[in-house]
Amino acid sequence: MSILVTGGAGYIGSHTCIELIKAGYSVVVLDDLSNSSREAICRIGGLVGQEVPFIEGSIADRSVLQHLFSNYQFSAVLHFAGSKAVGESVSHPLMYYRNNIGGTTVLLEEMARAGVKQLVFSSSATVYGDAPNPPFREDQPLGQPTNPYGKTKLFIEELCRDVAASDAQACGGPDNNPWHIALLRYFNPVGAHESGRIGEDPRGTPNNLMPYITQVAVGRRPSLSIFGSDYDTPDGTCIRDFIHVVDLAEGHVAALKHLSAMPGCTAINLGTGVGYSVLDVVHAMEAAIGRPIPHTFAPRRPGDSAATVSDPSRAKAILGWATRRTLADMCTDAWRWQQANPQGYGE
Ligand code: NAD
Ligand code: UDP
Repeated sequence: MSILVTGGAGYIGSHTCIELIKAGYSVVVLDDLSNSSREAICRIGGLVGQEVPFIEGSIADRSVLQHLFSNYQFSAVLHFAGSKAVGESVSHPLMYYRNNIGGTTVLLEEMARAGVKQLVFSSSATVYGDAPNPPFREDQPLGQPTNPYGKTKLFIEELCRDVAASDAQACGGPDNNPWHIALLRYFNPVGAHESGRIGEDPRGTPNNLMPYITQVAVGRRPSLSIFGSDYDTPDGTCIRDFIHVVDLAEGHVAALKHLSAMPGCTAINLGTGVGYSVLDVVHAMEAAIGRPIPHTFAPRRPGDSAATVSDPSRAKAILGWATRRTLADMCTDAWRWQQANPQGYGE
């Protein structure tokens, strides 16, 4: 049995492919390369010592999906594919609704048609909106995301819940093939594979903190702007729950292993449960590279919440999974990747 990995050439998908193959799964990647590089697929193959089947195409393309489902016996789909730039989602909301919600709708339809009803979806801590009191638990009321990207994550979660519920009602009793859907709510994925061969390769100016810092460290950008120094936090900068991307990838393998024991739709946080401030990350990266990171303080970034931290206890209880890697590991690995690939995969 194989696993279909949509968006498997991207940052989190590529790391997850490696952990899946290491755990003994066969993997087929579907990616339209709209935010990634074919080189990532080659490097995954190099790291695992086998070629990874790759189809260049979109989750919104029904004929591509039908071809895939008729050519492979998939037991589950890991669904990473989607657009993820918050700012772009504000300027191009329809593109985000079409690609993320439209694409996921087509994917779910074709999964149902093929009888493949096990799904792991890349959700996000953004569904908690700016809830005031972290740590966030999966059973607390969801918030109102401040941008179209975040709304697509919230809507897709709702979509998955409705699909799983309709399935149960349509059958009026136990279904011999009910949906099993894990909604994995990622906190702040950072870092890279310890080999330095794969990592985060944003197009254009990075929106996220860690790739911005590593690009400053490698000399691609002169200085980091820290957005906000007057938050109600110990050092005035925002607090986030940073999680090493390989811990996150291992969380997906754990979710896949436990999916058959999770009928319906289950939301699970993937985070460490520990918050670090933006300045903590800067200092940890300075320790990793052995020199200062030039930075200045800038006004708050619209839409940022002061603190976002997971309660990771459900993941521990249901999946038997917890993070193992430290903030120092995240910085060391991110730096190794950036140093070896100053221009990302583009080199
Ligand atoms: P990424 O952009 O590196 O990976 C997404 C991949 O999906 C890319 O390779 C892109 O080419 C592909 N893709 C986009 N639209 C597609 C389509 N219609 N058909 C096929 N492929 C398509 O992003 P990532 O950081 O690896 O994130 C993976 C998933 O996790 C995304 O859904 C993202 O929203 C979610 N997520 C990411 C973060 C984060 O901080 N990185 C946090 C929470 C959730
Ligand atoms: N941040 C920053 N400078 C940057 C990028 C991000 O100060 O160049 C801050 C941002 O304001 C937030 C934190 O770093 O407080 C994490 O931002 P990121 O975009 O990485 O993740 P988010 O939590 O917003 O998804």
